[in-house]
Parts: sequence; C-alpha cells; structure tokens
Amino acid sequence: MFSVPKKKYNCIVCGRVFPEGQGIIIEYDGLLLTFHSNRCASKFFRELLERVPPDELKDYIKRLVSEYNERLEAFRKLRSKKI
Ligand SMILES: [Zn+2]
Repeated sequence: MFSVPKKKYNCIVCGRVFPEGQGIIIEYDGLLLTFHSNRCASKFFRELLERVPPDELKDYIKRLVSEYNERLEAFRKLRSKKI
C-alpha cells in the first residue's frame, strides 16, 4: 500500500518544517498559523498580546479566565463527589 504523503508545514516562528499531525495548526479567519512546538506558539501569542491594545483585548481575556475558573470549579466539585 502506498501511503499518501503527509502535508508539510513551516513553523512561522522558527522556520522548521514539520509534517501534518505534529505541531500546532490554527486556522483563524482565513489565516493559517503553523507552529512546530508549544514553545513557538506561546512565543508568538505572547508577542501578539504585547502588541494588541489592552482595551481591545482585556475584556475577552477576563471572560476567558473566568470561564476556565468555572470549568475548574465544576471539575473540582465533580471530583470531590466521587471520593
Ligand atoms: Zn518553531
């Protein structure tokens, strides 16, 4: 059997080439963001956070943080019930 050659991507941060199924691929409104590792992705997003004006982003971040908090809380409650 021939295996279909996997797609290759370039990490936009360090330029490393990586095959489909590895790394982190994020599609955002027609943009394809490709990172070979978590480290490159967090470097990119850290820089993004520094560039976007806080008054545009802060409310979204706050909301996301509180959503994660709620999820963690729900998970903790679920776990304490089981014990
Ligand atoms: Zn990289």
